[in-house]
Amino acid sequence: MSANIFTDSFNYFSDDIGIDLGTANTLVSLRGEGVVVFEPSIVAIKRSTREILLNGEAVGDKAKVMEDKAPSSIAVIRPMKDGVIADFDITQAMLSYFIRKGKRHASRRRFFSFKPRVLIAVPTGVTPVEKRVFIDAAERAGAREVFLMSEPMAAAIGAGLPTGSPRGNMIVDIGGGTTEVAVISLADMASQKSIRVGGDEMDHAIIQHIRTHHKIAIGNPTAESIKKEIGSAEGFKEEKKMEISGMNLSTSLPARITITSEEIRMALRPIVDDIIRAIKQTLENTRPELAGDVLKNGIVLAGGGCLLNGLDSIITRETGIPCERAEGTVDLCRARHFQGAREH
Ligand code: ADP
Ligand code: MG
Repeated sequence: MSANIFTDSFNYFSDDIGIDLGTANTLVSLRGEGVVVFEPSIVAIKRSTREILLNGEAVGDKAKVMEDKAPSSIAVIRPMKDGVIADFDITQAMLSYFIRKGKRHASRRRFFSFKPRVLIAVPTGVTPVEKRVFIDAAERAGAREVFLMSEPMAAAIGAGLPTGSPRGNMIVDIGGGTTEVAVISLADMASQKSIRVGGDEMDHAIIQHIRTHHKIAIGNPTAESIKKEIGSAEGFKEEKKMEISGMNLSTSLPARITITSEEIRMALRPIVDDIIRAIKQTLENTRPELAGDVLKNGIVLAGGGCLLNGLDSIITRETGIPCERAEGTVDLCRARHFQGAREH
C-alpha cells in the first residue's frame, strides 16, 4: 500500500486512475479524491474451468468473504503472490475489475472520460513480458493510455517525499510478498533492492514457531492476528500475552494455548534481520553523496508490514539512521480497519 500516488508532481494526470496492485492489497486512487478502493488482491475461481465467480466480479472483498467458506470446487487465490504474476489470466481479470471499479467511482461524482489514463504501480521485479500483461489488461479494461511506475517510486510519492529533487531519499516498502528498498533522487531510483520477504513470511515464521514449540497447527489468519497484536521487532515496555486456538498435532483435537510477545519476537527475528540487511546493502550500493543525504534525511517506511511494532526503532538502532513510518500508511490501515468494522 503506498497511499495516494497522485500528488502535485502528477498534475498532468488530471482525471485519471492510479492503481497500486500489491501482493496483499490493491488501492485505486482518483486524482483529487484520493484512495477510493482498498481491497485484498484476491480472486475466487471455479477450479475446473478457472472462471472467476459471480460473472467475473468475485475479486477483492467479494472474494475475501468466500475464502474461509469455499467448498473444494472453488479456489480463492492471490495471483500476485511473491511480487510476481503467478497467474497471467487471473491477474489480468483482477486488474480490469479494479479499473472498472475506479471508473464507476469516478462517474458517480462528475463527468469522467470513458477512456481514462491509468497509472499502475508494479513491483520492481516484473519482467518486460509481465509489463505487457499489465498494459494489455488495462487497455482491454478501457484505458486510453497506460503508464507503469515502479512500486518504490509510487510508495515514495505516496509518502510525500520530494522525489523530484536532487536529494537522496530512502524508501522501504514492506508489503505482503516483498520488501522493496530504494534510494530515489531526481525522480529516478539511484539504487534499489527487492527481496522476497514481507508480511507473509512473518506469518509463516509464526506458524512454524507454534508448530515446533507448542505442537499446535494454526492457520494464516491466526498467525496474522498474532503478528498484529503481539508481534514486534523490539521489546515492549510491558511484554504481552495472547490466548490462541489451533489444532493439537498429536491428538488432532482443538487446543488453546497462551503465547508471549518474547517468543513471537524471536520467531520474527530472521525476517527483521533480512530487512535490515537489505537496507544496509542498498546503502552500500548508493553513491556516497546520496547515502549522505539518506543519513541526514532518514529512512521512510511504507507498506502494511512496516506497522510491525518496534520495526522503526530497531532499524534506527542497527543502521544509525533516523527512521519513520510514512503517515499515509498508518492512516490508510486505520481507515481500512474502520471500513472492515462497518462491513461486518
Ligand atoms: P502489498 O503492497 O504487497 O499489497 P501491503 O502494503 O498491503 O502489501 O501490506 C500487507 C502486509 O502488511 C500483510 O502481510 C499484513 O499482514 C501486514 N500488516 C498489516 N497491518 C499490520 C500490522 N499492524 N502489523 C504488522 N503487519 C501488518
Ligand atoms: Mg505495496
